Amino acid sequence: RAKHNGRSTYAVYNTDMERSIRQREAMIEALRRAIAQGEIQVAMQPQTRFVDRGHAGFEALVRWQKDNQWVPAADIVSLAEQSDLICALGHAVLSGTLNAMSAMKRKDFAPGKVAVNVAAAQLRNPNFAKELLDAVSAHGHRASEIIIEVTEGVILDRTSEAIGVTLNRLFEAGVKIALDDFGTGYASLTHLQRYPVSYIKIDRSFVKDVGHNRGCNAIVRAVTSLAHSLGMEVVAEGVETPSQYQSLLEMGCDYAQGYLVAKPILTEEIDAYLLNCKADRPVLTFVA
Ligand code: C2E
Ligand code: MG
Ligand code: MG
Ligand code: MG
Repeated sequence: RAKHNGRSTYAVYNTDMERSIRQREAMIEALRRAIAQGEIQVAMQPQTRFVDRGHAGFEALVRWQKDNQWVPAADIVSLAEQSDLICALGHAVLSGTLNAMSAMKRKDFAPGKVAVNVAAAQLRNPNFAKELLDAVSAHGHRASEIIIEVTEGVILDRTSEAIGVTLNRLFEAGVKIALDDFGTGYASLTHLQRYPVSYIKIDRSFVKDVGHNRGCNAIVRAVTSLAHSLGMEVVAEGVETPSQYQSLLEMGCDYAQGYLVAKPILTEEIDAYLLNCKADRPVLTFVA
């Protein structure tokens, strides 16, 4: 009897596992089709300068609607990373971003610096730097308008010499590198000196309690001052309230990104934001 129970449990477990594997595989195939059919979209999230609240640039974020449902960006990226789709996905996001920049320039709007998230597998591809630089110039943009965002894992990966080669090549061509989600992993500011990093993005989890939590305040202040002494600039992610904004400003952060400034905006809906900027109104109108 005990044996029978064990077996049936195993059988159920097995079916569940099979079902979830099949579902994941179906998602990967759907993503593959979406990439091939040009259905990958890009949302641009504005970033502003802390000092004068003016527009500074955007972060490009992948968007994909499957059966009328938005699939979370982190899920899209993880599906792509688990299959062979991460380079094709990155390519789709990059061209969507470069097209959006062209559209803005046609409307006489200077996009500022535009950041694109790049996965480790893309950086290990020895053709990545050339392909990116060629695409940027084919669209008539300059390399210095582009920032690539990499995560701490990329910086800590000592096994891949290719990553270092790619990052140095891009940096020499004028592309800036931002370290994303800083503080959530194991990278220290010492590691940053290994690669030509120009921006540190302080993770949302530290921004959340800034102003209220002495530990968070100390961390943000220390990271900002050390980043500045290393010649880097600091972006605060996930800024949602005027009080967080005020604290981060006082702590010397350079750029703000978060729902307080604006949510990510689909490229086809970005005109209202551009008009607001062009009217020379400050992007941020709240009173701190
Ligand atoms: P990330 O690079 O740290 O991007 C910031 C995430 O925080 C975005 O989530 C954005 O929508 C969200 N966010 C921005 N401001 C706020 C705020 O004030 N409050 C809150 N609660 N959230 C805010 P999203 O778009 O879901 O993307 C999640 C992650 O997926 C990104 O985190 C990035 O790691 C990855 N990702 C997105 N697009 C791409 C891509 O094209 N390629 C790669 N490799 N990764 C991407
Ligand atoms: Mg990012
Ligand atoms: Mg981030
Ligand atoms: Mg993040």
